[in-house]
Formats: sequence, structure tokens, C-alpha cells
Amino acid sequence: MYGYNLMTPGPTNVHESVLAAMAKNYTNPDLDSDFFKLYADTADKMNQLVGNGGGKTYLLCGEGILGLEAACASFIEPGDRVLTIANGIFGRGFGEFSSMYGAEVVYYESEPTKGIDPVALKTFIEANGPFKTATVVHCETPSGLTNDVSTIGPLLKSFGIMSIVDSVSAIGGEAMEMAAWGLDVVLCGSQKVISAPPGMTMVSLSPNALAYLDNRKTPIAGFYANLQIWKDYEKKQWFPYTQPIHMIAGLKLALDRIERKASVERHERLSEAVRKTLVKSGFELFAKESYANTVTTVLLPEGLDFKVLLDCLKNDHKVLIGGGFDFLDNKIFRIGHMGENATEDRLSALFLALDGAFDTLNVPLQESLQNGFEMQINRANLK
Ligand SMILES: *Cc1c(COP(=O)(O)O)cnc(C)c1O
Repeated sequence: MYGYNLMTPGPTNVHESVLAAMAKNYTNPDLDSDFFKLYADTADKMNQLVGNGGGKTYLLCGEGILGLEAACASFIEPGDRVLTIANGIFGRGFGEFSSMYGAEVVYYESEPTKGIDPVALKTFIEANGPFKTATVVHCETPSGLTNDVSTIGPLLKSFGIMSIVDSVSAIGGEAMEMAAWGLDVVLCGSQKVISAPPGMTMVSLSPNALAYLDNRKTPIAGFYANLQIWKDYEKKQWFPYTQPIHMIAGLKLALDRIERKASVERHERLSEAVRKTLVKSGFELFAKESYANTVTTVLLPEGLDFKVLLDCLKNDHKVLIGGGFDFLDNKIFRIGHMGENATEDRLSALFLALDGAFDTLNVPLQESLQNGFEMQINRANLK
């Protein structure tokens, strides 16, 4: 029933050492200062991974969506003008969270097949501002493209707009220099590139965002999504609720496995090989530019139902891939080449399985995917 090669864009494959770190009896996280150190060390690792100079990272128990909601709950006050930068499903969804917390939402929308154009965005802000806060998605996982937050961040800063960035499926696979790019709130999740199990969201706050929390005018509605309650947890040796110690131990190990620069380079190299392999075999990609390093979206061959493809991969090959949802429902399939999935061996195994499945389903390919991939990564002659 289990034991698949999980080539989905999250949850991703979890390394054995991470699983092993979770399969132990630890301590009582409310009583033992050893746990406070584990939490602080893990948060600090995450803080370094996002390049957050003098700011702080909190680790919250709940998957990525909790981070998005906590950011909206904590940084949006009723009546705030919030710019929702949207070229995909998560981008637009951010607008709904923002209005739940009382924002006056203004959408900047652009095509889902390419990244946000900072020049057009600047013109839009000049015409429609001022805004207090903006939300933007770094990697639009459902459509497989990455927005250039290295340009968007400084642009927002130049207008004095506070930025909330959903980098849940990007951090570790795309460059992230939170402080240098002037980003205020950066959100990550455990089950994407980080390759820990689902269940944790990591919220990184700039010094500016921390100061905002201290000086907010209206109280934050709710408790679980309230980021004020984490203030000075180290000094107080107090957490707002029982901490998921096993999850944090696993997260720490997963973060230890990521070397910032090398990880981004590996994702860049392998994602390019994946795209070239697919195109050479006759597939068309959904994204037309600004391709994500962490996920590739591929148009389904004419007449092929995603469920049929997935069932064949699952039952005959023990491999899972992602499908499309919302406006991409049954139009695409998605390969998650992030974190522990982004290895030559796992991708080669995936392409072998896809070759087999397309053969079974009578979908002709211009070239074997696995051979194509082995050529792309220059391994073909070594076999
Ligand atoms: C996965 C993901 C999330 C979080 O969603 P989950 O419910 O935790 O899977 C948020 N934003 C993006 C862009 C994601 O890819």
C-alpha cells in the first residue's frame, strides 16, 4: 500500500535519516531546556537558509497553509489596502485570506504561463497605490513557474509596501536572500523542498515585520494564527502550545541535509534536464518562461485522462506524480523535482516508469524519456 517513489510536488520523499530522527522517545517539550535549544537551533537554521539577516524564524505546527493564514492574520488590519499579486492559483488564493482578515484587496493579475513582469507591476502600483502590504507567491506550484522576488521585493520596498512572500515550494530550490531583497515575511513548509513530512510551517520575519507586530493597532483575531504570542519564547521558556518535538527533530535533520548554494544549483541543473527531456520526447510544457527549479508542469497528451496515467504509474510502477487542479484540472501532469526528489537516480526511475506507462497506455513518444534524461545528465555512456 505504501512505499511509493513520491515524485509529487509535495509531500516529497523523506530521507531515512529524517525518519529515524523522528522514531525515538524524546523529552517533555514543556519542561526540558534541551528542547528549547533544539527549537532555537532549528529555527536558526531556517533563518539562515532564507538569508534573513537580523530577523527571526518561528516554526509553527501545521502545514504550509497555516503559515499563509498566520501571516494574513498577523500583518493585515481591517481596512488595510492590500495588493494581491496573482499569476496563479496560490497567488489569487492569498487575496481570499487577506479579505478574511478585513483587507481592502486590490488584485494585480497577469498570465499564468509566465512570471510577474516587475515593470508592469511598478506601473500598476503607481496608478493604483498606495498599498500597505502586498502578497506574492515565489513558486506557483500548480503551474510550475517562479516569480522573480529578487526584483519584486526591492520594488515593493521602494514604495514602502510590506511584503508577504509564499515561498513554500521554492526555498532550498530557488535562491532566497530575504534581507538583501527587502522581504518582510517569508513562508516555507516542511513537505516541499525541505523534504520533512507535512506538518510544519516556517515563518521568517524581518526586523521590520517584528517591529510591526509589536506596534499593531488592532488586536489579532484568533490564537493559533497569531504571531504575537511567540514573542520572547526563548527568554520566557514558554511556548503557546505543546510543541511537536518529533516533527522538529525531523525538520532539524532535514535542514542539516541542505547546503544552501549547492542545493539551488542542483535544482537548477536537474530541472533543466527534466524540461529538455520532456520536450525532446514530444511533450509541451505549461509554463512558457520563468520555469520553476522545483516542479515541472506538462500538458497531458491528447485524450489521456490524468487518473488513468496516475493509476498505471501507481499500480504498475509504484511511482506517484501530481495532477492539475482548478483551471488546470485534467489538463496537465506535474513532476515534483524538489528536495530529496531532486536526484539523478529518482528522476531516472521516474522517467523509466513514465516510459512504461505511456507504452501501456498507447501514447507514442518521440524518444524514450529515460534515455533522454540519461543523455541530458551525461550519464548514458557510463552504463
Ligand atoms: C504546498 C504549498 C502551500 C501549502 O499548501 P499545503 O496545504 O501545505 O500543501 C502553499 N503555497 C504553495 C505555493 C505551495 O506549493
